[in-house]
Amino acid sequence: MPIARVALPVAAAGAFDYWIPEGAPVQRGSVVRVALGPRRMIGVVSEIVAESHVPHGKLQTLADIADVPPLPDDVMALAAFVATYYQEPPGQALALAVPPLTSGKARTTHRAGSAAAAAATNVAATVAFNAEQQAAIAAIDTAANEGFAPFLLFGVTGSGKTDVYMAAAQRAIARGGQVLLLVPEINLTPQLTQRLDAALPGVPIALLHSGLTPAARRAHWIAAATGQARLVVGTRMAIFAPLPDLQLVIVDEEQDSSFKQQENIRYHARDAAVWRAHHRGVPIVLGSATPSLETWLHVREHRYRRLDLRERADTRAALPTIRLVENRAARDMDGIGAEMRAAIALRLARQEQSLIFVNRRGFSPSLNCASCGWDAQCPRCSARLTVHREPPSLRCHHCGHIERLPSACPTCGNVDLLPLGYGTQRLERALAAAFPQARIARVDRDSTRARGAFAAVRDKVAANELDILVGTQMLAKGHDFPRLTLVGVLGADNALYSADFRATERLGALLMQVAGRAGRAGLAGEVVVQTDFATHPVYAAVRSHDYEHLAATLLAERKAAALPPFTHVALLAAEAHERAVVDGFLAAAHASAQKFVAAAHPEVEVFAPVSALLARRAGFERAQIAVQSERRAALQRFLADWHTALADARGQRRVRWAIDVDPAGFG
Ligand code: ADP
Ligand code: ZN
Ligand code: ZN
Repeated sequence: MPIARVALPVAAAGAFDYWIPEGAPVQRGSVVRVALGPRRMIGVVSEIVAESHVPHGKLQTLADIADVPPLPDDVMALAAFVATYYQEPPGQALALAVPPLTSGKARTTHRAGSAAAAAATNVAATVAFNAEQQAAIAAIDTAANEGFAPFLLFGVTGSGKTDVYMAAAQRAIARGGQVLLLVPEINLTPQLTQRLDAALPGVPIALLHSGLTPAARRAHWIAAATGQARLVVGTRMAIFAPLPDLQLVIVDEEQDSSFKQQENIRYHARDAAVWRAHHRGVPIVLGSATPSLETWLHVREHRYRRLDLRERADTRAALPTIRLVENRAARDMDGIGAEMRAAIALRLARQEQSLIFVNRRGFSPSLNCASCGWDAQCPRCSARLTVHREPPSLRCHHCGHIERLPSACPTCGNVDLLPLGYGTQRLERALAAAFPQARIARVDRDSTRARGAFAAVRDKVAANELDILVGTQMLAKGHDFPRLTLVGVLGADNALYSADFRATERLGALLMQVAGRAGRAGLAGEVVVQTDFATHPVYAAVRSHDYEHLAATLLAERKAAALPPFTHVALLAAEAHERAVVDGFLAAAHASAQKFVAAAHPEVEVFAPVSALLARRAGFERAQIAVQSERRAALQRFLADWHTALADARGQRRVRWAIDVDPAGFG
């Protein structure tokens, strides 16, 4: 009887072998349910073997084979790459590729050619592509015969990148291909799916994202696997979708941080997408107005081809002017300075809309006592508690801890406690006081928790039922409001103080994104940024809409500091309840790393253990070791050796640890 070797999502990388029952349709890629001790889990058959090192008498029989198509070879290969590259067992990566195994009923595709969609005319008919769009579409189309061909579609916001994606997709689908479109979590809006529906009439589209019910996700997955769906649109997770006829991969807003998973396997879906396109020998288009420095360097060194969209597609929509205004004086004016107030008043008078953007939810980021110096700290984290007024409470934004808002200082009894700094709730109040006649809505994680709440606000803006929106970066991307002519930015300077090496890059990208929200259809737009550092290069670049200049500046800084993308970095992050346990684990890990470097990995540099930026979170003491190399392959070889040693180290079970390859920052 043949034996199935099953990869399970457990830490041990060992093989789990099972008899295949007579006549059962089990093959490489089959999804199965097995019992491992007391636990029931889902696994994937990684190979069929004739012999097992487990004594035959002890082998169990595979009893439960899931009723879904087996994972195709290329998805198995992708999962193997992800597991190896991100230093996790194969079963963990394969678990990302398995669809939900529910038996519920759901629609098979997002739309299988509804009458309304079929009636809509297609892109080519409604949009007269400009010359740059045509050149981009032609270049992507021609590359269909070239095998792997990576492109950066570098287009300012509103330049019509989405229409280029759709036209390129349409051509690939017309050739009999399937297309995979990855979008950031926040961009997968009903507006986008409606646009795709209208532009690609009759094309069955499958959606893959965490907002779907398991039954719907499973149905969409099967539609992709059987080839019924020709376009698969999804968030990070969709990179593992089965696509037998894949001919084109598109990653929208490729710089977006939601493509990097921050727990379990810390994979980057954009990087996995490039690997998959290479493996399948198909073109990939990375689209952005503000590309990541990683992608930018690939372009600069001619590994990726650059396609430019320099003009806004709607020629009436000029890029907004950007004005930097004094921040200091705003502190005594509820955070909103005179120039910002005047800009808002002007929009109200013209019946246009304003978006006021601040990167903090809640009322105020700290609560202080002026008489004794006390401030409200999270008991479980090394962080301040945020004041919330709706409902009144002190909340930790790192661990979720909530406590009552004190009426007096717990140390000295002073009843005059001062909330310091500004969050969305406080600004909403200040705006309501300053503009009592205005219709104001707040958009942040707290206000949009209820299903459909965000969509309801969006509809109100579109219907001109709101004058001022105040909110966090949820508002930065992917929305197109014709009467929105002012974007105000508060608190942007915080990023300039950050210890995170990517903070300035993210600020630049964010400001250019928010600028793209202002003045889209004929009405001139303006962006007003309150800052104390008007001469900082990031603001100069945003002001002249010059991402290239910003990228060049930031790349020079990264090169001088030997930071990514010029070096490749991984972090060993560890946490435990006691500081001594973390320190002991990392001291041993550091010693073993140095031993490996001395013995076999001279190109790798190992840094001393340091406390994480947030040294304590949810009661865990946190620290880390950074390792880096100029060569990715050298770092990979080192990590494989080091990881094995760490997994065997004594005491490692008392510590929660993980290796983060290409980390988002030095958390
Ligand atoms: P981006 O994704 O680059 O920010 P969008 O794809 O959202 O830009 O395009 C902005 C708007 O311009 C959309 O409403 C789109 O339909 C429209 N558009 C795109 N291409 C053209 C064109 N060639 N002529 C007129 N309008 C266009
Ligand atoms: Zn006090
Ligand atoms: Zn906390």
